[in-house]
Amino acid sequence: MADVERWRREFPFLDGDNPAAYLDNGASTQKPRAVIERMRQFAGHEYANVHRGIHELSERSTAVYEGSRERARKFFNAATAESIVFTRGTTEAVNLVAFAWGGQNVKSGDTILLTEMEHHSNMVPWQQLAARTGATIKYVPVLENGAGLDLDAARTLLAERPRIFAFTHISNTMAVENPVKDLCLLARENGVTTLIDAAQSAAHIPVDVQEIGCDFLACSAHKMCGPTGIGVLYGRHEILAQMPPWQFGGEMVDRVEFTGAKFRPPPARFEAGTPAIIESAGLHAALDFVDSVGLESIAAHSSALAEYAAEKLRALPGVRVFGPSGERAHLVTFAVEGVHAHDLAFFCNDRRVAIRAGHHCAQPLMRKLGAPASARASFHFYNTPAESDRLVDAIAEAIRFFNP
Ligand code: PLP
Repeated sequence: MADVERWRREFPFLDGDNPAAYLDNGASTQKPRAVIERMRQFAGHEYANVHRGIHELSERSTAVYEGSRERARKFFNAATAESIVFTRGTTEAVNLVAFAWGGQNVKSGDTILLTEMEHHSNMVPWQQLAARTGATIKYVPVLENGAGLDLDAARTLLAERPRIFAFTHISNTMAVENPVKDLCLLARENGVTTLIDAAQSAAHIPVDVQEIGCDFLACSAHKMCGPTGIGVLYGRHEILAQMPPWQFGGEMVDRVEFTGAKFRPPPARFEAGTPAIIESAGLHAALDFVDSVGLESIAAHSSALAEYAAEKLRALPGVRVFGPSGERAHLVTFAVEGVHAHDLAFFCNDRRVAIRAGHHCAQPLMRKLGAPASARASFHFYNTPAESDRLVDAIAEAIRFFNP
C-alpha cells in the first residue's frame, strides 16, 4: 500500500520514535486520532443520555447514536438501520442470537452446525444452548493442517438441515477466508438459518450482508480501529422482528404495567439499559476512517504481509505454519519444535515485537492440530514489511537460543 507512512502518522502509538512492531491486530487494533478525538469531543461537549430526554442535548446525543447505527448500516450494506443492533461486541452478539433466537427456535433433537475453526465465542454459547435444549452440535471438519473447511462435509451436514449454521468469515488462527456467500446459499437452499462471525473480517475485507446473504452477522468495533465496549449484530429484519428480547429493563419497553410489559420493535428491543453512547460516536469515526483507507487496499496489504511472514517463517528450522500454503488472510499462526509459544512471545517482546501466544481462544482446533500452544502474528494496513522482518529475525534468534 502506497500510503502506509501517512496512515501510521494518524495513530499516536505508531507515530512516535521507533514504536514497537504491533503485530497483535487479530486481538485488537490500535486507535487513530480521528476516533480518539471524536470520542473526546462528544463526551466533552455533546453528551447526554439517549432516547429519554426532551432537552436539546439529549436529542443531539440521540441523533449521534442513531447516526452511528445508520453509518453501520451503510458500512455493511444492510437494507435498513433497524437491522443493526448495538452489542458489546461479537461475543455478546452471538450470545444474543443463541439466547433469543435459539431459545425460540432450537428444540430437543435439533442440530446446531458449527465448524472446527470457530473462536470460543462462536462455540461456547451454542454448547450452552444445546445443553439447555437437548440439541446436538455438529462441526464441519477442517482440512489437513487447517488449510480450509472440508466443503464436501459442509454440503452433507447442511443437507441434514440443522437449525442454524454459525461459522467464521475469517479464521482467527488458520488465516482462512471461508466462502461465506456459497455457504449461505447452500444453507438457504436447505432452509438453514446462518450466523457469520465477522470479528476478523469486518475491517479487513469488504463485508456486504446482502451480497453474502446471511441471516445474522456479528463483529466488534475494537478490532476495527474503534473503541472497546461496542459491536454490531446485523440481523435480517424479518427475523429480528420475530425474536423475543433476551435482556430486560429500560429503553427496550413500550409500556410497562405492574403486571407485565410490552416490548419495543427491534433494534430497541435488544438494547436494554443505557447503551454505549460515547463508543457509538467512536465506532462512527472508525468506520469513516477504515473506509477512507479503503477495504480493498487493506485486504491486499495485510494479507500480502501475512504471506510474506509465513514464507520466511516456514524457511526457519523446526517451524510449522498453520493454514493454507498460498493465499492467506491477515495473520500467521505458527509453532516451533522444542520452543514453547510463550517463550517465543517473550523473546519477541524483548525485541519490541508484540505477538500473541497461547490457544487463541480456539482450544479444540489447536489440540486437534497437535499444537495446544502456538504463536500468532496478525497484520493490518499500518504494518510494514520491516516489522514483519523484525518478527522473523526475533523468531530466528529464539530458535538459535533455545535449539542451539
Ligand atoms: N470471533 C473471532 C473470530 C475472534 O477473533 C474474536 C476475538 O478475538 C471473537 C470472536 C470475540 O470477539 P470479542 O472478544 O470482541 O467479543
